[in-house]
Amino acid sequence: MNQIRLPSIDTLLSASEDLIEAHGRQQTTLVLREVVAGARERLVRSEDQTPPEPTALIEEARAHLLSLSQPSIRAVFNLTGTVLHTNLGRAVLPRAAIDAVTEVAGSPVNLEYDIEKGQRGDRDDHVEQLLCELTGAESATVVNNNAAAVLLLLNTLAMGKEVIVSRGELVEIGGSFRIPEIMDRAGCRLCEVGATNRTHVHDYENAIGEASALLMKVHTSNYEIRGFTTSVSESELVNVASRHNLPVATDLGSGSLVDLANFGLPSEPVVRKVIESGADLVTFSGDKLLGGPQSGIIVGRRELISRIKSNPLKRALRVDKMILAALEAVLQLYRNPDKLTQTLPALVTLTRSAEDISAVAEKILPSLKQALAQSACVQTKSCLSQIGSGALPGDTLSSLAIVMTPKHEGHRYLDQLVKGFRALPRPVIGRVNEGALLLDLRTLSLSDTETFIAQLDQLAL
Ligand SMILES: *Cc1c(COP(=O)(O)O)cnc(C)c1O
Repeated sequence: MNQIRLPSIDTLLSASEDLIEAHGRQQTTLVLREVVAGARERLVRSEDQTPPEPTALIEEARAHLLSLSQPSIRAVFNLTGTVLHTNLGRAVLPRAAIDAVTEVAGSPVNLEYDIEKGQRGDRDDHVEQLLCELTGAESATVVNNNAAAVLLLLNTLAMGKEVIVSRGELVEIGGSFRIPEIMDRAGCRLCEVGATNRTHVHDYENAIGEASALLMKVHTSNYEIRGFTTSVSESELVNVASRHNLPVATDLGSGSLVDLANFGLPSEPVVRKVIESGADLVTFSGDKLLGGPQSGIIVGRRELISRIKSNPLKRALRVDKMILAALEAVLQLYRNPDKLTQTLPALVTLTRSAEDISAVAEKILPSLKQALAQSACVQTKSCLSQIGSGALPGDTLSSLAIVMTPKHEGHRYLDQLVKGFRALPRPVIGRVNEGALLLDLRTLSLSDTETFIAQLDQLAL
């Protein structure tokens, strides 16, 4: 009945040249059809039978087309208090790495090409030397992430055989990475030894048999067993393994290329130390404490790495040119470790001084108070940041937060506040604590405060 009164798609299209230019005829037509169908539905349901003006329909289509063209993945403010937040993309890359990615993204590159010899090369060549220099290992390879590194290592060294692991180290990392399940998928049999809290050298010794292929140590990154505990050190394990001619692999999870204690941070195992204690292979993440792009790094004995590289699974798990470019740039920074707290964003953030964080608070507090004058009390309060990405949850860093408490009682108001910040052009992700929204300022750089402040007038509460 109302069909006649709505403009035809052709009529609308002829008045939508700018939309066609920007979004293409096909997409514009599709969206106009949706808009007209929506308008028809509204007319059928409504008492008011006045049809919308063509311009109104076109404007509706414009808004829809614009929202369709917005990227889904975009920058946010991570003010959650977790520095290396897995759901928010972990490490922020240094400028040098961003430039390197940009450079290789838009051009053919010598990814697997030896320019000097004019022949095929190996993509690992771009970082292997650096990784060996920084860890003391003989050889190295890089895959998609550390989960892939562990999978590939297990599959190469122990398919159809047994891997001996302490019961205290059968970890689950957030996001469904569990050592027993990875073992299973890698085609290995898990041989658990010891008890949850205590594993001794003789436990490993007694478990070694015909089917054993590997002794493995997993760094229990996200939990700690306290009290009556014993575990076997790398060097003890290496002794046992060498008596039986078996390799030892250590999954460090995060791991670090430098001793973080030098920067006043909680100590994490250093890859070089583990190699020095005799481990044959070590795996660790590129985007946890290392502060680089998502990747998994395997370093260790040449002969074993060479077997890993020739596993067909390596092909399925390899990294692309952009990751390698970013990783190389980040590793270069490690050649000057004294400067890392200035050059590598992950370490800049983790070692940030209290004064520096306070300066950010001072800068943004007046604007926040103004923007929330009607809706919330805004204060600063000391808080604790977490390193994140499997570093010990107990290892915290003192920091400063903005605390915003809704002026009205009720969950609804807090919810509005949280959603309001999330709906900003660059979404602000904080954390809720005791009826208030907390923004941990450790991860807000002074240079980002302007962007932060500028969008506050769009806060809809
Ligand atoms: C984080 C972690 C992994 C997985 O690393 P991703 O890079 O996230 O794939 C594996 N093992 C341990 C011990 C970890 O902490």
